[in-house]
Order: sequence, then structure tokens, then C-alpha cells
Amino acid sequence: MENIKKLAQLLAESKDTMVLTGAGVSTESGIPDFRSPDTGLWSQMDPMELLSRSALSRNPANFWTRSEPIFREMSTAQPNPCHYALARLEEKGLIRGIVTQNIDSLHQLAGSKSVLEVHGHLRSAHCPGCGAHTDMRPLLDQVAKGDSPPRCSCGGVFRPDVVLFEDPLPDAFHVAWQWARVCDLLLVVGSSLEVAPVCWLVPAASRLAIINMGETQCDDMAEVLIRGKAGEILTDLVKEAEGLQRQP
Ligand SMILES: [Zn+2]
Repeated sequence: MENIKKLAQLLAESKDTMVLTGAGVSTESGIPDFRSPDTGLWSQMDPMELLSRSALSRNPANFWTRSEPIFREMSTAQPNPCHYALARLEEKGLIRGIVTQNIDSLHQLAGSKSVLEVHGHLRSAHCPGCGAHTDMRPLLDQVAKGDSPPRCSCGGVFRPDVVLFEDPLPDAFHVAWQWARVCDLLLVVGSSLEVAPVCWLVPAASRLAIINMGETQCDDMAEVLIRGKAGEILTDLVKEAEGLQRQP
């Protein structure tokens, strides 16, 4: 496909490429997109209402009981070809790293080393009272048994290390902003770029390429625009890019 060749060429020319990933890279791992009407767990609730700071403080037991199946689904998912392809591009020195909106840790599971999680992750939780950190899995097991909300030994309620709606911008976002400003190329994969603050990164980058199933509000800014499944496109892109690298 002509566009994949063009994108491979862009990657080869660029000295500093940053990748921005969203929910679209994880849908092929069975994790539904927050925003698409779906028959999964997400259709039964408004994530903005459930996964918010105020929902947690208003009714922590309800927050944990309702989010437990979602968190469990996300934290037991497996990487798909898109995650592996991105890890390969990093290994080959073709990308500097990944800024992700996803909280599922699938980039790291696939072998990516340089990953900035601008919405946090589900590997751990912390107590806002005393600052204690703990692994997420035992907390989920506890909640599944009906013991909700999970509490710290100081009496505080644990909260997952994810950025909830109504939370301030995380430090990782400021680092991502610096990356975006200095990179030669920003490659967006599987993000509709609707979510602030991530969509603010796009105008900061000098060149833009987008791989996504649907339209994004930045399509007209992209030098290369490819519609389709991220897993297939990225797998082809790796082949093309490795072919170019082998040429003298
Ligand atoms: Zn505590």
C-alpha cells in the first residue's frame, strides 16, 4: 500500500519520532474503546461519571465495586500485533518512544521500553492519606469477594494509579509535551484525538502521521493518513521500514 511505503520513508528520514497511542491499539486485545457504543461493560455506564474523582470520594465502595470488572478485564488482556510492531520499531531505533492514553500496560508487556503513560496505569494503587503504594491485583481480588472499598492500614481508601476524570494534569503529560515539541515526527495510532489534554500535543509536533479507524479532528494536518486496523497496518509498516533500513 502506497501510504505505508510513504510512512516508512517518513520514519526512515526522521531522527526523532514519537508515537502517540489511544484506545484503538487495544481494541484488538479485546479492550473496548471508552467512546464507541459497544455491548461490553462500558455500555452499562458512563465512564466519565464512574471513573471520576468525585465518584470515588462520594461513594468509594460503589466506585471500586463497579470498576473492578473493567480494571480486571484491562489488566488481564494480552498485547496484539500492533503492540509488538511498536516494540520492534523502538528496538530498531526507528522511534524514540510511546506516549499512551491507555492504562492497560500492554506496550510494556509487548517489550516497549520507553513508554509515557499520560493517563496512569493499573499496576498499582496508592493511599492518598499516607502515600502508601500497593499492587492492584490483591485489591481487585478483595473487591471481587465483596470487601469494598479496599483500605490502607491507616484507614484511607486506596485509589488506582490512574488519572481519573477531574484529576489535575499528571507529570507524565508535561514530559510528553516536551517530547512533542522537539520531535521531528509525531505518529498517532488508534486515537481519535478527542481527549484533552492529549490532543494538545498534536500542534506542538512539526510533522504528523495518523493511523486510525475513524476520522480525527487533526486529519487535515497529517502528511500521511491511513485508515484501518492498527495491528495489520503496523505489521506491514515494520516490514517496509526494515526493508528501507537494510538498503545501504
Ligand atoms: Zn494510608
